Amino acid sequence: MEGDELTREQVPSELTALRKRVAELETAEAELHAVIDSINDAILVADLDGNIVLVNGAGARLLGLLDPSETRPTLTELPGRLRIRRIDGSPIALEEMAMARALAGQNVGLEDRLIFHGQSQRDVYMRTNASPVRDDEGKIIGTVAVVRDVTDIVELDKLKDEFMAVAAHELRTPVTIMKGYAQVLLRTAEDMPTTRQRMLQAIDRGADRIDRIVRDLLDISRLQLGYLSLASETIGLADFVKEVVDRMAMTTTRHDIRIVRLAPGTVQGDRDRLEQVLINLLSNAIKYSPQGGDIQVDVAIREGQAVVSVKDHGVGIPKEKQANISERFYRAHNGTPHDYGGMGVGLYISREIISRHNGRLWFESNEGAGSTFYFSLPLQE
Ligand code: ADP
Repeated sequence: MEGDELTREQVPSELTALRKRVAELETAEAELHAVIDSINDAILVADLDGNIVLVNGAGARLLGLLDPSETRPTLTELPGRLRIRRIDGSPIALEEMAMARALAGQNVGLEDRLIFHGQSQRDVYMRTNASPVRDDEGKIIGTVAVVRDVTDIVELDKLKDEFMAVAAHELRTPVTIMKGYAQVLLRTAEDMPTTRQRMLQAIDRGADRIDRIVRDLLDISRLQLGYLSLASETIGLADFVKEVVDRMAMTTTRHDIRIVRLAPGTVQGDRDRLEQVLINLLSNAIKYSPQGGDIQVDVAIREGQAVVSVKDHGVGIPKEKQANISERFYRAHNGTPHDYGGMGVGLYISREIISRHNGRLWFESNEGAGSTFYFSLPLQE
């Protein structure tokens, strides 16, 4: 011990300082590892060659390693080893993996994948964020990914959709009965006092409204659960659009719904569902131009696509809210003087229906001046 003491006294002061610094760095590293290890999300860091150079405890469990020091798989081995798939179950290529894309310079935010969890022997849903790691000069030297197990959230969401589907389905029968009786009574109501007739009309309208809400809820749960099936028939667009417009024109006295062009063309699709989309756009155009006015409907052909548009001169959509339109339950005019009721699901359902026909739904809008909603569909050869 004494000898030790002696030598230490002889050590130059710089060396002592260096040792102290190394000890500090070791402590800092140990602390950092402890922090990273205590995080519930899996953290994976890979170098340019795809070697995983750092994993925390959750990462090791994700990779099926007994502890983080065990030999790690390379990025190339991950899709096979973890059976990484898209949410619909289809396999992904190596270059589609979040970490591979981050190595190519992309910032990948919140990407959901299915993987096979070896320990529990079941599929789990993983949500990944991945970014490139750069050196001082900005050159990519690796990638870091944070992977979160979102199985509980996804399963809860699915349960909610299933509950919605069952509840909506159960509600349909009583609503149909209510509506049926209200209509029978209305038909035989000649000698009934006007106040009672009004009550029956209110019941009839109320039943209609509940029926629409129930149908929307059913559609949403079907879309979420992947049960929405589409018929495929040949549809002459000009006749189809004219028929729907004529019908909708009868529902308003304050608006003049005019067809400005009916380019001929046929599309392949589900007539009822496409009708639902057009009715939704037209009823929104009516609803969001409460002062009345012109609504123009146009059917054009552009680059092999049929493009149907509905233009109104109503309240429009504020710029800062436009990005969120067609999200489920999003209502841009919620709580404003232009909140005319609704659930904010019509456009979401419409966009999904159009995208399942390989088309696109979009819009242009100026607050206070009106909106134009478009959808395109591939033309039949
Ligand atoms: P809802 O009308 O039932 O709220 P939608 O899904 O049909 O639901 O529309 C979502 C939101 O988009 C509406 O709440 C409204 O803020 C906005 N919106 C839709 N169509 C128009 C339109 N033609 N003009 C102005 N705003 C619109």
